[in-house]
Amino acid sequence: MLFTTKWLTGFLTDYKGTAEDEIVIEKVITDSRIKTIKSLFVPIIGDNFDGHDYVKQAVNNGATAVLWSKERELPAFLPADFPVFFVEDTIAALQKMASSYRELVNPIVVGITGSNGKTTTKDLVAAMLKTTYRTHFTDGNFNNHIGLPLTVLSMKRDTEALVLEMGMGDFGEIDLLTKIARPDYAIITNIGESHIEFLGSRKGISEAKLEILNGLKDEGYAIIDGDEALLQHLHNKANIIKCGYGESNDVKINNVEINIDHTKFNLSDGISYKVPLMGRHHALNASFAVTLGKHLGIEKEKRQKALLSLKLTSMRFEMINGPSEVSIINDAYNASPTSMKAAVEVVKQMSDFTDKVLVLGDIRELGEYSEELHRSVADVIEAPINVLFTFGDEARFISETVQKNEPAIQCMHYASKEELVQALQVYLKKDSLLLFKASRGLEFESLIKEIIHTS
Ligand code: ATP
Ligand code: MG
Repeated sequence: MLFTTKWLTGFLTDYKGTAEDEIVIEKVITDSRIKTIKSLFVPIIGDNFDGHDYVKQAVNNGATAVLWSKERELPAFLPADFPVFFVEDTIAALQKMASSYRELVNPIVVGITGSNGKTTTKDLVAAMLKTTYRTHFTDGNFNNHIGLPLTVLSMKRDTEALVLEMGMGDFGEIDLLTKIARPDYAIITNIGESHIEFLGSRKGISEAKLEILNGLKDEGYAIIDGDEALLQHLHNKANIIKCGYGESNDVKINNVEINIDHTKFNLSDGISYKVPLMGRHHALNASFAVTLGKHLGIEKEKRQKALLSLKLTSMRFEMINGPSEVSIINDAYNASPTSMKAAVEVVKQMSDFTDKVLVLGDIRELGEYSEELHRSVADVIEAPINVLFTFGDEARFISETVQKNEPAIQCMHYASKEELVQALQVYLKKDSLLLFKASRGLEFESLIKEIIHTS
């Protein structure tokens, strides 16, 4: 049981229903197609649909109570004693339910934001907390104003730790999420350039991420990317823990070693860790999870094991053995300028390859900064990278710039995926490493599929 209708009437007061006031709710749903028992259906009004139109389906599929927008007429088929909560705005009511439920269950709450690395850090933190607590965490990327409340409302009553990813595209969004979540720990993974179109500058982005502190509990802690200049003003605050590579950090990362299927690193306490992800940025993400684990008193062996237990999510720097033993990195899940540069850095650091080939596509949602930011990716493209393929109108700026700055690198731009796949054939060999990365919309995984299929 999550809660009862009676509990809900404590704050959703405009209630009409049966005399039997203790109706048990097992699940909160916004999708009427889900077959449930004892669920509360929350109709959401979207750009292209209105959840109120699907209440019949929801009830047929097992909903035992519904939220309803006040100004709408209640459909005639609902029995007179069917439990209905009338609200001004169903999304706001969903959020209110989530914040009240968070207080009711009262687990240790960890909120995670940042431009890149949120999902990875969420998974690492969840693995860490699972060693010791009954832990509930964001499923996949359910990190917005609807996904986060639904995540909160899907935790069991006996949950001891809750890990929430907080995504955003504009000012005010993290503020809303953090005030629902009231985290005991707030993690800011990094400040990049994603959504700069709406936020104006990296400073704007940092301010939007820092909104997470607005909901942080008074006795709570923030664990942040200590190397980020835009977060320096937080230094020396008692409840801020800085992780990173620089000397001034509270938790310093050193001796990083990137291997084909894991990254090894040391933290300032001298303890060495291994995480099955590749790249310096993942040592940073892991350091957040370790720091949190240590703060909660999770012992060393459990911390080390927790990192190792991480299950890789597909298309996030996923290593694939391709045809003719070529090594392929599928990082086609998404891209931002920061994460693209980070991925290139990892490829540069990986040993044992004669050809290091980048296959890069457009990074979307960069607005007027798009050209400049695509060109900035070229800053990190240098030896031992020796081949660059680009695809898409914006990614062309990357190859143009690299061609100018690094004449030794062979640069090719393609407007057709078929031709690109064809051109890649010569690199399908044992000593080549191919990185595929672009925004989600470019579906770069289709290139990899095609390569595997045609060889
Ligand atoms: P989204 O906004 O899509 O939810 P996210 O913040 O959840 O993204 P992840 O999915 O964890 O981020 O990782 C996305 C990409 O960012 C990956 O390609 C990864 O290589 C890169 N990345 C992960 N952590 C960092 C970091 N700390 N700094 C820079 N890049 C990173
Ligand atoms: Mg994510």
